[in-house]
Amino acid sequence: MRLIKLAFIVILAACSAVVFGQTFAQHGIQPGDLDRTADPCTDFFQYANGTWRAQNPIPASMSRWSRRWQAGELSKDQLKDILEDVSKRHDWPAGSVEQEIGDFYGACKDEARANKLGMTPIQPLLADIDKMKNTADVQRMVRRLHELAIFVPFALTSASDNHHPGQVIADISANGLGLPDRDYYFKTEPRFVETREKYHAYVTNIFKLAGYNEFAAKAAAETVFQMESKLAGASLDNVSLRDPNASDHPTSFSDLRKLTPAIDWNTYFQDAKLPQSNLNVQEPKFLQEIDRQLRETSLVDWKTYLKWQVLDSAAPSLSAAFVEESFNFHNRYLNGAKEMKPRWKICVEATDGLLGEALGQKYVQKYFPPEAKARAQDMVKNILAAMRDTIEGLEWMSPDTRKKALEKLSTFNPKIGYPDKWMDYSSVKIRPDGYWGNIVVLREFAIRDDRNRVGKPVDRGRWGMTPPTSNAYYNPLLNEIVFPAGILQPPAFSMDATDAVNYGSIGVVIGHEISHGFDDQGAQYDSLGALNNWWTADDLKNFQARTACVVRQFDGYFIEPNIHHNGKLVTGESIGDLAGAKIAYLAFKKSQQGKPPAATLDGFTPDQQFFIAWGQWRGDEIRPEAQRTMIQGDPHPVAKFRVIGPLSNLKEFQQAFSCKADSAMVRPPADRCEVW
Ligand SMILES: [Zn+2]
Repeated sequence: MRLIKLAFIVILAACSAVVFGQTFAQHGIQPGDLDRTADPCTDFFQYANGTWRAQNPIPASMSRWSRRWQAGELSKDQLKDILEDVSKRHDWPAGSVEQEIGDFYGACKDEARANKLGMTPIQPLLADIDKMKNTADVQRMVRRLHELAIFVPFALTSASDNHHPGQVIADISANGLGLPDRDYYFKTEPRFVETREKYHAYVTNIFKLAGYNEFAAKAAAETVFQMESKLAGASLDNVSLRDPNASDHPTSFSDLRKLTPAIDWNTYFQDAKLPQSNLNVQEPKFLQEIDRQLRETSLVDWKTYLKWQVLDSAAPSLSAAFVEESFNFHNRYLNGAKEMKPRWKICVEATDGLLGEALGQKYVQKYFPPEAKARAQDMVKNILAAMRDTIEGLEWMSPDTRKKALEKLSTFNPKIGYPDKWMDYSSVKIRPDGYWGNIVVLREFAIRDDRNRVGKPVDRGRWGMTPPTSNAYYNPLLNEIVFPAGILQPPAFSMDATDAVNYGSIGVVIGHEISHGFDDQGAQYDSLGALNNWWTADDLKNFQARTACVVRQFDGYFIEPNIHHNGKLVTGESIGDLAGAKIAYLAFKKSQQGKPPAATLDGFTPDQQFFIAWGQWRGDEIRPEAQRTMIQGDPHPVAKFRVIGPLSNLKEFQQAFSCKADSAMVRPPADRCEVW
């Protein structure tokens, strides 16, 4: 999926899939989860959590499962309690947080009403598409869909300027593909051929639900596929998209008009109330393909394509038949889920997605005490200091580059828990009935809010994730690391846990986010957040040789006999894990100085507890379907290799478990990777 920087669609540089936090006491590691029949020096993933995985099969509605995912699902019960509570009352002041989240949740839960309405809620939108008479109408419709956050066939959002840090500009990116990325349209391996067949069937079924007969629905699916294939052919692949320079094309408004004369940018910018100032076009070739299709593709085909986009976007919010078809393709086929989550849980997730900073206020009041924030802040400070020590001690880096790296580190901005200033949704009218209508007004609000930022200085107080989210991110343009309250919960972090366990789980996550500032992407941004090379030529060559080691390592990890990780796709995340584990370990050791020696617990030394904590927090069981989808498009390696990969490079791990030099968990010196 493409990176579109609106909180409710996709987050920039998000660091793992989203779950929510949950509170329970945890002191040390979980000894009962270990598979003691496995050798930690041979397969540390199996050793750390093999028994837990054997005893806890993946629930039918999930694609991945571990204590962490379990805690995430259980924490939705906490959010449910909040939402059930407020949705019972209907006398909240209009526009209050309680009224908005309560009515949104209540309307979402009304499945009977959704079933009765069928596709009625989107009928007016489809009728508008049918009424289109010319290319100008097509463009008018595209503008309307963008107001609803249906970004096809391109997206236009706000972004920090790569070259004027602190300024927000408009950013135009490629979008509008129904399959996860361009490769699915062209690759010839059987699994991609099968995905194309399943996609055809999905599009056909949705069109049939929308009233087309079998023949017309099949023809419509073919039209959609043909148009999308041409767009896919003009777009960058996942690996190219990881290079910030490949999507950096500063463009003046008049050059944008010259690049794509068939697109009426004047009207677009006027309607959207956007300034006609300099902007960025991520993929000029893609935009030119849209320009060509506007001139050459028939009106009938454009109607089919746009209708499909509306149907695909709205299907999860319509009647059961639509929800089921959407689930079958997106969740069941692509990710291996066997059954849908209960309606209430889907509605908890939807409320978090569209009203996250309203629900989040209630969440942090109950589940994020100030002491937790203080302890997390302290850990971040210590791990930043460990990164400083590491940079100062690097033998391969010249003083000039080192100075710049330290300068960059000193400008890091950590955000912890929740925003200082909450997003104010009070102008949005949420009704107790009409689920789709509520989605529409909230999406319109988010788009207006996003566009309103263009042409202004960056508001550094904003958050790209909601407070209950169990996830974290680094944003190279603002040089900020962000940890929502939802990840500062057990099993990642606990006020009751030992330092070894906290540093081994959330500590490595913190180290991972800090290291993103210095991974293959982050290292291209300077201390101000500008895309600007601050490396000497020799140091850059050295750095690239070191990252190439990580690429080779992950190219060698197979999930099935013929399917292995794409090292280039997962380099950044793997550098994050490798450097993150190293600096979290150093910070843990430093935090123990001047304290009485940490205890051996359950027979494990503090160092062993640190590494087991990482294996237990990060390790999960994953369905084969989800694993294949991840391998193709996700910049994160699967959990097994996020445990084995970094630890097999660390001598500290080898020492902690007294592993012999020829152990599987000890990479030979010639293959051992160290970037930072
Ligand atoms: Zn990451």
